[in-house]
Amino acid sequence: MTTTITHWIGGAPTASDGARTQPVDNPATGEVIAHLQLGTAEDVDAAVAAAQRAAQAWGQTSLSKRSAVLFRFRELLEANIDELALLVSHEHGKVVSDAKGEIGRGLEVVEFACGIPQLLKGEYSSQAATGIDVYSMREPLGVVAGITPFNFPVMVPLWMAPVAIATGNAFILKPSERDPSAAMFLARLWQEAGLPDGVFSVVHGDKTVVDALLDHPGVDAISFVGSTPVARAIHARATAQGKRVQALGGAKNHGVVLADADLDDAADHLAAAAYGAAGERCMALSVAVVEEAVADALVERLAERARGVRVNAGDQEGTDMGPVITAEAKERIEGIITSAEQEGAELVVDGRGCIVPGFESGYFVGPTVIDRVRPEHTAYVEEIFGPVLDVVRVKDLAEAIEVINANPYGNGTAVFTASGEAARTFQRQVHVGMIGVNVPVPVPVAWHSFGGWKDSLFGESHIYGPEGIHFYTRAKVITQRWPRRDDLAGASFHFSGD
Ligand code: NAD
Repeated sequence: MTTTITHWIGGAPTASDGARTQPVDNPATGEVIAHLQLGTAEDVDAAVAAAQRAAQAWGQTSLSKRSAVLFRFRELLEANIDELALLVSHEHGKVVSDAKGEIGRGLEVVEFACGIPQLLKGEYSSQAATGIDVYSMREPLGVVAGITPFNFPVMVPLWMAPVAIATGNAFILKPSERDPSAAMFLARLWQEAGLPDGVFSVVHGDKTVVDALLDHPGVDAISFVGSTPVARAIHARATAQGKRVQALGGAKNHGVVLADADLDDAADHLAAAAYGAAGERCMALSVAVVEEAVADALVERLAERARGVRVNAGDQEGTDMGPVITAEAKERIEGIITSAEQEGAELVVDGRGCIVPGFESGYFVGPTVIDRVRPEHTAYVEEIFGPVLDVVRVKDLAEAIEVINANPYGNGTAVFTASGEAARTFQRQVHVGMIGVNVPVPVPVAWHSFGGWKDSLFGESHIYGPEGIHFYTRAKVITQRWPRRDDLAGASFHFSGD
């Protein structure tokens, strides 16, 4: 008997009336482990109504009480990390230790949000003009929604919800339909932490639910993380409805290796950043851009690292890399590897046809290295989102920067070098939002904000950190005057700064 996953509305599991369902499978075994109810516009109406009711009281709840709920949520998340990580591994496929890593990054955002009394302090100008004080404060928007991708079923919802909730909003999550159980786990932890019912809700589903959230007049803001075509469409549709939108899209991240870099260190980091989580990370390094002088030596090392990756189910001891998310994803990725060969690139390590003993029906693709990739090749143009590392050879740093800046995406990038001067030139000249210097996956810590440039982000606001606080609140500025009754000088007809 497989379970049926329902929504979480008004603080309780809530079934849809006559909803469609979709199987949820374990990518390591190919087995169906649950059925997911795909919501309707009526489910969204119910969630928004519950959220609107809850938001009124929650937005008026004192900062210390809100912060206390966040502290308890943090403790619960930490106490339940093993169970949650296993759940993520079984629906997503990633290695359990990596699932714990993503929960850890989400926890950091919860910890940041615990400091909400400090973060929401306004500004004050005493005696801005004679007898006049000016001060600002930030208030919650009301009801906000988050639409999240399959690749980080805990971390990405936690990029949003803790900040939205700490700032006094009610939050509705529409998680990925591929790995929906983590969202329900989080819902139960929020409730256990003492969050009032209706402040955190989950509506599962696909485009029907997303469109209903985008169009609903009761939803004030949309946070989206997913692929670029969907991010672009969501930004256009929701901003047309007058909503505030941050829509983070896909990526093609380049790791530049200069001739003066330590090649063993660079190869270790490139392999981990390309093959970790089977390359299903928006900050994965999927392109190595290498100075020609050291390209052969680097490719040799990358091939050795790729062949050494232990591919197995994510819950098995000693596994480095699990399967990709679906059978369709495996087929698509293998098709791109084939296209690289046909279009004239050099297949150095071929991950097609990867079979794991004991898990023969799993969706495994082996680590792949493709050398001499050109910008016009399909393997370069597509966001592969699999364990495939392209190698692009360039003559120098200037050409590497040209390659990166010609790419439509601008999420993350890294440079491996021993030269501070080269690193400084690189960070000042690349058109990319997050940059690593000898750091392969430069995901900003929780008290900075995360976001790319160009087709990797639609909207002005980066996510979590200080920009998250701004995104989920709006400012009021108060100009006040308390004149003495015996000192009223009358009003002036012209502007005065005195
Ligand atoms: P996706 O775009 O297919 O789905 C993301 C969310 O949008 C899901 O909840 C899905 O149900 C919904 N959705 C899908 N198609 C839709 C449509 N036509 N209309 C409305 N909603 C729709 O992405 P995915 O495959 O789940 O995740 C992988 C993608 O996410 C990759 O492109 C990756 O780079 C990107 N990603 C980006 C970041 C970032 O921070 N920039 C982080 C993680 C993932």
